[in-house]
Amino acid sequence: MHEFVAQDREALNDIAAWTAARLSDPSAVPAYGRAGEPGTGAEPLPALASEGIGTDAAWAWVRDAVLPTAFATDHPRYLAFVGGAPTPAAVLTDAALSAASVYGGSELEAGTVVTAERAALGWLCAFLGYPAEAHGAFVSGGSLANLSALVAARHGRRTAAGAPPGVIVMSASAHASVRAAAAIMGCEVVPAGTADGRLRAADLAPVLDAHDPDDVVAVVASAGATNTGAVDALAEIAALCAEREVWLHVDAAYGGAAMLSPCHREAFAGIERADSITIDPHKWLFTPYECAAILYRDPHRARAAHRQRAEYLEAAHEAADNPADYAVHLTRRARGLPLWASLLANGTDAYVDAVEQCLTTAGYAAKQIEASPTLELATAPQLSVVLFRRTGWGAAEYEQWSQAARRSGLGLVTPTTFGDEPVLRLCFVNPRTTATDVDLLLMSLKDDLP
Ligand SMILES: *Cc1c(COP(=O)(O)O)cnc(C)c1O
Repeated sequence: MHEFVAQDREALNDIAAWTAARLSDPSAVPAYGRAGEPGTGAEPLPALASEGIGTDAAWAWVRDAVLPTAFATDHPRYLAFVGGAPTPAAVLTDAALSAASVYGGSELEAGTVVTAERAALGWLCAFLGYPAEAHGAFVSGGSLANLSALVAARHGRRTAAGAPPGVIVMSASAHASVRAAAAIMGCEVVPAGTADGRLRAADLAPVLDAHDPDDVVAVVASAGATNTGAVDALAEIAALCAEREVWLHVDAAYGGAAMLSPCHREAFAGIERADSITIDPHKWLFTPYECAAILYRDPHRARAAHRQRAEYLEAAHEAADNPADYAVHLTRRARGLPLWASLLANGTDAYVDAVEQCLTTAGYAAKQIEASPTLELATAPQLSVVLFRRTGWGAAEYEQWSQAARRSGLGLVTPTTFGDEPVLRLCFVNPRTTATDVDLLLMSLKDDLP
């Protein structure tokens, strides 16, 4: 089954044609953005059996019955959660990377792939304002990046009683993955500030006062809260953390990309003082899944925390600086390579333009909502997140509308909660989302539901 035979070539040709169609005009691909109910595709999938059906037939199932049921996150009206719209250069490199069977954990095996990933990490560090010696690794997602940062923050520390520090102080707006990381680490989470607001040092100080600094693993601040787009007051938080000698982790998984926009940069002032930063290129920097980065201002402690040691790893570790050393992983996909290739192909200016395009579209949506007699902003937009209400509607109506929009292929928009109130949420991370897309969605909210 490892031989590349005629039917593999046929499948490859068809995959190439399908990929070209998908990348040039996503809406031309059948059933694009028409999600079925999960697990209820038109046809039941064939059973896995002792005899195979061949690559071309298996690909036909994937193409016709499996992939079309997914609501693609690069659909221009996928505005739920945080989507992702990869560039062709990134997608194509990602596809070739699979064929190349690169073990991305060490330089011994991955060679110049590691150098290219380092260059992509360097670009992220530079625009986030980190010093030249900052470093990290690409991981599967923001969740693993946050866990890796917190494990590094705790490494080698003990309280006076001899226990590892056990408290993670987090912005109340922090992503769910911070709680998940705390649970894995056996740590207690103490929130500071409010879920919908920006964390200020004045809210954080009393929380830190209430804990022995030796018992605090880290403070986690948000730079672009997932729900609201809010950026915590990073400069004053960084100053307070420095004064208390507490590790500051800034989660910029979604929002960090906005620092490419000169007029949004200021809101992030102080992020460069964080001990570690999470940023997800698979959200707003246009790579395919999965590509997130964990970055450390001083990578040494991270390396001490994460480097795995064993006799069978010694050969790989001779070449001292390995991507495996900076996160909770060993074998890894060289996830930074698609980002590097796309940066090389498109130039960094194109990234600035693409991010600004998303911010502009978010601004347009906010304006249209303000002008509408039936719609109302729940709060001023922050970064590219727009929260709004439909007058007369509550949670049930939002849910009904959202499901109808998904089933009809109009778009994927999901409700959330803001200040204890159900609202609709739009998050713009796709530069191909146009004003017309926004108008189509907002127009469908005009009429009362059947
Ligand atoms: C999406 C997100 C995460 C989690 O990232 P995954 O890649 O989904 O694991 C963490 N933090 C923030 C702020 C996010 O928006």
